[in-house]
Amino acid sequence: MIFELIGQEAIADRFRRLIHNRRIGSGYLFAGPEGSGKTSMALNVAAMLLCRDPQNGEPCGTCPSCTKMRHLNHPNFHFVHATPRAKSPSDSDPFQGLSDEDIAVIREERARLTGDPYADMNIPGANQILIAYARYIKKELAMKPAESDRQVVLVYRAELAGIEAFNSLLKILEEPPARTTFILTTPALDLIPVTIRSRCQIVKFNPVPDTLIREYLVSRGQDDAAAQRIARLCGGNVRQAKALMDADFSEVDGTLLDFWRIMMGGKLNPGKPEERWVTAADIGELIENYTALAKNDAAAFRNQLRFMIFFLRDAQLLSASPEAEDKLINTHLVKELEGFVRYYPGFPYFEMIRLTENTLADSGKNMYIPALLANLFLEFRTALLETRKR
Ligand SMILES: [Zn+2]
Repeated sequence: MIFELIGQEAIADRFRRLIHNRRIGSGYLFAGPEGSGKTSMALNVAAMLLCRDPQNGEPCGTCPSCTKMRHLNHPNFHFVHATPRAKSPSDSDPFQGLSDEDIAVIREERARLTGDPYADMNIPGANQILIAYARYIKKELAMKPAESDRQVVLVYRAELAGIEAFNSLLKILEEPPARTTFILTTPALDLIPVTIRSRCQIVKFNPVPDTLIREYLVSRGQDDAAAQRIARLCGGNVRQAKALMDADFSEVDGTLLDFWRIMMGGKLNPGKPEERWVTAADIGELIENYTALAKNDAAAFRNQLRFMIFFLRDAQLLSASPEAEDKLINTHLVKELEGFVRYYPGFPYFEMIRLTENTLADSGKNMYIPALLANLFLEFRTALLETRKR
């Protein structure tokens, strides 16, 4: 494989065999959750198909075709993705009329994929695969192939195609040009029209198993405990695992523990037992800190909410069975988790998880963060104090 691929061995094997036996089809739809390796697999399959000297279906990695593919500039590889809309758009060229800045970003984002096929393309204003792009590809395919005669079209996040673009793609898929393979990828299969689905072989991707992500992280220099924690946190999403690889967990833990300490009136900190309930002023301070975080680094803020969920999940596991230690995500916070469970026996786990998940979802909808947090923290406080009254 010439692009990094973690797991998905069964799918890779299937394509190796198809290519080795020259039985590759004309349309595939790769569907599965984010970070499961759809784009990486698609790029590798393109490389397999275009390689001049494949070994048992594997791309050789060194021929001129493989070299060009590595840089995504093989003339027979056609990459379709959402692009910004030009001020005066052409109806058959999605790039015509775009600003130099837009073009530069598109180039950068494509280049990023060559280094990390798990990266998410992030082109500002690119919300849709335009009809112009579908027409453009049709025209490209009609031209005489420059090098090998096999053509591969990758439609990245196909669900972003507008109705017109879907119709145009459908026409090409219904009568595909000779020796052309389309690979569509999507994290949202239900957003792909049935007409398109029925023209493609659907290949379903599952989340990558924890153990493989853990091995990968260790191979990239993470220590085993951190690798295990990240693997459990990312839920089979390699993109997220890579993002967490750079996270400073000591800071995350510090903020998280401060949060629970305040929620427990200091009880989580065995050295400093403070005999007082969490006050309105405490809540006010938490809201201020988290609002500042949300403003400066929205991703870090959302991760904090996720860490709260994982903390609660661990606490629930521990309260159900003290032997659950090896199933915890926060294995290094066992002492604090035990303290929490002792202090709030029977805490309303499902309610608290639901509240946090709602806040996480709402925080992505441009809602007023201090109000969201005030609601969350006050609900937490009420729910936790209830458990102390029983
Ligand atoms: Zn090759």
